[in-house]
Amino acid sequence: METDVSALRRESPRLQTAMRAFAMLGIGRTGWIEKPRPVCGPLDAICRPIALAPCTSDIHTVWEGALGDRHNLVLGHEGVGEVVEVGSLVRDFKPGDRVIVPAITPDWSASESQGGYSMHDRGMLGGWKFSNTKDGLFAEYFHVNDADGNLAHLPSGLEPATAVLLSDMAPTGLHGAELANIAFGDTVCVIGVGPVGLMAVRGAVLRGASRIFAVGSRRKCFDVALAYGATDLLSYKNGGLAEQILKLTGGRGVDRVIVAGGGVETFEDAVKMLVPGGTIANINYLGEGEYVKIPRAEWGVGMGHKTIRGGLMPGGRRRMERLAAMVLAGRLTPGLLITHRFEGLESVEDALLLMKDKPPDLIKPVITVSWE
Ligand code: NDP
Ligand code: ZN
Repeated sequence: METDVSALRRESPRLQTAMRAFAMLGIGRTGWIEKPRPVCGPLDAICRPIALAPCTSDIHTVWEGALGDRHNLVLGHEGVGEVVEVGSLVRDFKPGDRVIVPAITPDWSASESQGGYSMHDRGMLGGWKFSNTKDGLFAEYFHVNDADGNLAHLPSGLEPATAVLLSDMAPTGLHGAELANIAFGDTVCVIGVGPVGLMAVRGAVLRGASRIFAVGSRRKCFDVALAYGATDLLSYKNGGLAEQILKLTGGRGVDRVIVAGGGVETFEDAVKMLVPGGTIANINYLGEGEYVKIPRAEWGVGMGHKTIRGGLMPGGRRRMERLAAMVLAGRLTPGLLITHRFEGLESVEDALLLMKDKPPDLIKPVITVSWE
């Protein structure tokens, strides 16, 4: 007779075993630890990872201590998994299902979620739970809250290694284009063309931008920016960005700026290069610095109608499903971001350190994990 291990585990916490996980031990310190397997609540799911990716956000969190200190917090928030257990109230998922797991997993019953800001459920950035307020995905097992609202079935025909880029890179980059409110014919500058900025370039193209200026420094990223539809490439290492953009646009500037790289200082340039009536959309995680400075005169001495917005990407199931549909329809090719491939859970450590070192040919590493 077959034993229902999940049911046993639900009924008897005693049968839970420890699992291996890769964690932030403290600011600037990471390592492998043992933790109890997560417990599944009635609305939740427990998954094991089949594809994972480290994120630049993990670098800000661990090495810059941007969110404050964390002890033994399991890292990782980008993944595709296999469901191993679901709670009694979960309707659309069952053990064995392969799922895309969004980096942002809101509590969909929160009032903020009902008001359209699910990413801030029960407080600022509340939807960002993995590797922030609860254990992340770099473990043998991980917990997903509100499974019906947050998981998406992995469609057949979509490789886990590609789908893992839908967890965070694609929705964040595309959210930059949404926040910037790009209209047909707008000129757009994307500051920073790592994986997030590159997805923002693609988002700008899909929303009908005309000229798209991609700011970076590395050839590899520029090549992908061109493939996604950027029209002009410029390096932030070649002098002031605003000056470069104003020169290239005959002094006019651009209609929209998406900030996806650099530090707090980028805002000054963004305001200077923006036309009155334009919008700056920040999707960058500002890891350091106390204040963001807005240049008074170029902000129209307060009356320039230059809008500055910034946002955490929305997560949730519907967004994952729609992004997957875009990939299957050939509109989005996030696989171009993958420059390094790893195999096995143990390699999350090497992949994360690679992101920290950021060699010239790196855009995004992905890890596939098989469980035999
Ligand atoms: P990367 O570090 O891979 O890319 C950053 C980009 O910014 C690179 O193109 C880099 O150029 C460029 N850059 C570096 N310094 C400057 C500068 N001074 N001025 C202009 N450009 C500069 O990061 P990711 O693409 O992975 O992520 C981008 C940001 O988005 C990160 O801060 C990340 O934490 C954040 N993020 C935000 C999320 C959200 O929901 N809002 C979700 C996920 C990530 P080069 O390397 O070529 O020199
Ligand atoms: Zn991420």
